[in-house]
Amino acid sequence: MALVKSRAISLKSYWLGETSKVVVCYTRDYGKVRLVAKGARKGGGRLGAALEPMHVSGVVFYLRQGRDLSLVSQAEIERQWPELRRDVVRMAYAGATLELTDALVSEREPDPEFFDLLEKTLGRAAGAPPSSLDVVLWSFELSLASALGYAPELVRCVACGGPLDGRVSFAARRGGVICDNCLAEEPGARPLSDSAAKLLASMSPSAGVTRPEPGSGAAGSSTGTSAALTAQDDDISVAVRDEVSETLMGFLEEHAGRELRLKSLGFLAQIRRTGQPSAQSEQQHDG
Ligand SMILES: [Zn+2]
Repeated sequence: MALVKSRAISLKSYWLGETSKVVVCYTRDYGKVRLVAKGARKGGGRLGAALEPMHVSGVVFYLRQGRDLSLVSQAEIERQWPELRRDVVRMAYAGATLELTDALVSEREPDPEFFDLLEKTLGRAAGAPPSSLDVVLWSFELSLASALGYAPELVRCVACGGPLDGRVSFAARRGGVICDNCLAEEPGARPLSDSAAKLLASMSPSAGVTRPEPGSGAAGSSTGTSAALTAQDDDISVAVRDEVSETLMGFLEEHAGRELRLKSLGFLAQIRRTGQPSAQSEQQHDG
């Protein structure tokens, strides 16, 4: 048993017995771990507050080989984004990144680069212009797939390697976009609109064009880049947003081998359809 220290982002928590809480965290040095915060149920105290979801904390815990649960000894908040608590929509985007990490990442497989990406994404969810929040989440989903070793091909046909002219589809099983000539081999592929195919290609790391990162500048700044970005992402229609969101989730589910019923994504899909959260889902989300 070793007493270790790491930066950590809390993904979710559940009660353990009368007084304790289990907090599932993604730590920079030890990957995903389950930490037990004793006494957190009775008022919480500093341990409980530091291990709230969406906070970045410095934690000290007892790492035991062969045991699922590790006891927390100390936890201090290092970074938090009040915007995520104030705005239920931003909270849902940030929540989706935490839910996806919890659902797809294996325990105790450290990846410090992925930790940094998750932290950066929470900052973007707090600061990006509202019309860029989808792009923030899609970029995260693509980076998560890369971190897990299955980055999709978005620029050339995944079957023949040829350029994409004409009709483009997405073959989740095959791991990317597919041209019309190869479509017969993949009857389950999802046809993409021109706009969705272009948008996906623009987000590919292999596209050779670096898309500006939403929210990477100072929050609320009115620099030229930020304004241009807002205008660009404002142009993405609701139908294309749905299409890209469903395509990427279908791809992640194909690799997970199961349907991922994420609360935050259901909430976001509803906002896209109705333009606003319903009172009921807002309550659910507060819980
Ligand atoms: Zn092809």
